[in-house]
Amino acid sequence: MRLGQFTRTDGERPWAGVARDERVIHLGEAGVAAGVDLPRRTADLLGEWHWQAKAELAIEYASETGTGVYGRADLDRHAPVEEPRKVICVGLNYEDHAEESGGDPPEEPVLFAKYPSAITGPGEIAWDPALTEQVDYEAELCVVVGHEAREVSEADALEHVAGYTPGNDVSARDLQFADEQWVRGKSLDTFGPIGPELVTTDEVADVHDLSIWAELDGERLQDSTTANLIFGIDELVAFCSRAFTLRPGDVIFTGTPAGVGIFREPSVLLEEGSEITIGIEGLGELTNRCTYR
Ligand code: ZN
Repeated sequence: MRLGQFTRTDGERPWAGVARDERVIHLGEAGVAAGVDLPRRTADLLGEWHWQAKAELAIEYASETGTGVYGRADLDRHAPVEEPRKVICVGLNYEDHAEESGGDPPEEPVLFAKYPSAITGPGEIAWDPALTEQVDYEAELCVVVGHEAREVSEADALEHVAGYTPGNDVSARDLQFADEQWVRGKSLDTFGPIGPELVTTDEVADVHDLSIWAELDGERLQDSTTANLIFGIDELVAFCSRAFTLRPGDVIFTGTPAGVGIFREPSVLLEEGSEITIGIEGLGELTNRCTYR
C-alpha cells in the first residue's frame, strides 16, 4: 500500500489516502461509507489496531462505488506522516560517507535528532540566507514506525515497522559544524522532506537491496544501494528501542551514502532555485525546490 497525505483545497487539513496509479483513495471518506472508522492522519492511522485490514475494506468499497476516489492531479501532496512524535537520524551509516567525512565507520549506531517540525512533503525547502550559507542534501531511506517498539529484538524489529519512504536529511553545514552538536543545523523548518508516499513493508521485497540516489538539477551526485548500510533496519530499530520507546508514526532517517555536497571538490550546495530529487528503487522519487525566505 502506498500511503500519502493529501488536500483538495487550501486550508483543508491533510488526510491519509492510498495512491493507486493516477488515483487516490481518501481512506476516511471511503471508510465511513464502508462502515469502518479510519483516523484522518497517517500517524493516528498507524496506531490503529489492524488498520491495514480496515483500509483494505475502504479501498474495496471505493473501487466498487467510486466513493472517496480522487484524481491525483487534482490534489496537493503533503508529507506522508506529519508531526511525528520523534524524528531520529543515524549518522555515518554508510562506510564511504564515514570515509568522506574523515571519520572511521562507527561500531555502534550514532544517533542524533531532527525536530519533528522540520518534516515537510514534496514542497519547498526554504531558509534565510542570512542564517545559513551552506545548505546540503543527504539521500536517505526513512523508516516509519508502525507498532510501538520497546526493547524489541533484531528478529522481531521489522514487525514494528509500517513502511519506508525516501527522505532528504537537509543540513545547514555551517551551523552543524560550528555548533558541534547537530540539532540546530538539521532542524530548520522544511529541512526534513519525506515522501512522496509511505510504502508498506509488504510491498518491499528486501529493504537492504534498494538503489538510492540524489540528483541536483538533473545531475546525479549520490548513487548507492541500501545493501551498503552498516547497520540494517532491524539493527537500528532494536538499538533505538533499547533506549526509548518508538511510537506509531515516528520517523528514522537511516543515514546517507557518499557524495554529499559539502565534501565534494569543489563543494556543491543548494541555493535558491535548486531542484533536488531523492530516489529509492521501488519507493519513488521525492523532489523539492529550494527558495530563500
Ligand atoms: Zn543524514
